[in-house]
Amino acid sequence: MHGVKKIVIAGGGTAGWMCAAALSKLLGKNLDITLVESDEIGTVGVGEATIPTLHIFHELLGINEREFMSATNATIKLGISFENWKDLKEDYLHSFGFLGTDCWAAQFHHFWLKANQLGMAQPIGDYCVEHLATRVGRFGVHPNQERNHAYHLDASLYAKFLKGIADKFGVKRREGKIVDVKVGAKDGNIQSLSLDSGEVIEGDLFIDCTGFRGLLIEDALHTGYDDWSHWLPCDRAIAVQTTAKKSPALYTRSIAHDAGWQWQIPLQSRMGNGMVFCSKYWTDEQALAVLKENLTGECLNEPRVIPFRTGTRRLHWNKNCVALGLASGFIEPLESTSIHLIQRSIVKLMLLFPKDEIKQADRDEFNRQTREELEHIRDFIVLHYRVTDRTDTPFWRHCKQMAIPDTLQHRLSLFDETGRLYKYDKDLFGEASWVQVMLGQGVSPKSYHPIVDLMGRDELNRFMSSNLTSVQQSVDAFPLYSDFLKKYCPYK
Ligand code: FAD
Repeated sequence: MHGVKKIVIAGGGTAGWMCAAALSKLLGKNLDITLVESDEIGTVGVGEATIPTLHIFHELLGINEREFMSATNATIKLGISFENWKDLKEDYLHSFGFLGTDCWAAQFHHFWLKANQLGMAQPIGDYCVEHLATRVGRFGVHPNQERNHAYHLDASLYAKFLKGIADKFGVKRREGKIVDVKVGAKDGNIQSLSLDSGEVIEGDLFIDCTGFRGLLIEDALHTGYDDWSHWLPCDRAIAVQTTAKKSPALYTRSIAHDAGWQWQIPLQSRMGNGMVFCSKYWTDEQALAVLKENLTGECLNEPRVIPFRTGTRRLHWNKNCVALGLASGFIEPLESTSIHLIQRSIVKLMLLFPKDEIKQADRDEFNRQTREELEHIRDFIVLHYRVTDRTDTPFWRHCKQMAIPDTLQHRLSLFDETGRLYKYDKDLFGEASWVQVMLGQGVSPKSYHPIVDLMGRDELNRFMSSNLTSVQQSVDAFPLYSDFLKKYCPYK
């Protein structure tokens, strides 16, 4: 192979169009990019909750927030409300943002742990701006402050919006079904895709965005899949849209049920709903019945069943094929991490983009980084299932006693015994996320950092109060969220 000039993106869902927009805008001048998608096959049609890292992707692409939100009927998301996860009728919020003020030796939660023991603390979330903002329905961003908000968006409109960018930067679109993938006998690289129209599309680098099918990475290259269902047992989802609520919440709802959990994603135009569940404990009919019982609003479409297998491709860059999105594997949608993983892989691909031919060292580095990021996210998701007080159904009894990855066991033991957090630079979920979810799921540390004891009782009380006041003042300065939406990106 002499240089990588011709890129072929197979699939036009969120992954395909994110990749097409980014490569064409940022590396496009020297590249010839073609995207193939099939209207007949369509897209998976879910994937509408995001996390704050999407800002990074949008900044790279120069996307204007207001235009993007208007184009995708988006709303703001400041966290996820986990209901019935720790136990029935117990809720907590995993909010984006930081908790209180840290000191050089210990994070804020160590101070909170002692104050809580002394009965001087409010719930941990009260020390987080984004958490309080969701409760009182206010939203804003202070100047010079990190933007800790994410979005709920309409996935099909998002793909269309990104397509607009890709079109502008010269991406060619082909409509049609890929019916054959030609692999070179000598080097095992993909040479071309054949469409049902008879057209043959050759390329140097192929990006597999064909969704769960993994048409290139698996069907053609037989890359292999590591199954994680022993840690993440849910394997089916049912999705349905309902009419919008008048005032969308600032968070996604995740409501645990007998054999899975239900999502509610509020857009300006409608509500996205679904049930993720484990087929060993529930039939489709049982899951659908519980979902229907718990819907708000009128159904706008027929509920759709989506089977999946949690896990990951053994390699994410194999030969001359990079897999993105569902083609690369699926952890599970609980913390809305898939779109983030697509964006991370696009950025990694651009950083490791071949100058001449594709080097094995670049593939290895891409695969190493991807695997590392994935395993940390996987552990965070497994945490929600494993650490629970629920024993009311066979599904929850199974989760409560299932074996977990050693890496997660280490994090849990460290926090449980000392209040300390395992720190890993590349962790997508920062310390505040781990603290909120571990405390929320019921891990209660037996100790805290000794530096906290340098503060007397009154000083600790003043410290906690000043943190509370500062959060309150920040939130009071924000406009009401409903006013913000109306002004910023009114829904027509
Ligand atoms: P798809 O949307 O399935 O796109 C595949 C593309 O390939 C389509 O264009 C299709 O036409 C094309 N294609 C396939 N075969 C062929 C062929 N033979 N010829 C031509 N074209 C072909 N992610 C989040 O970040 N947040 C969430 O809240 C979230 N919720 C989810 C809930 C569920 C139940 C599931 C299953 C996933 C969720 N995800 C979520 C993941 C998210 O949906 C995906 O990461 C995202 O939609 C990207 O999908 P994709 O582009 O990889 O695949």
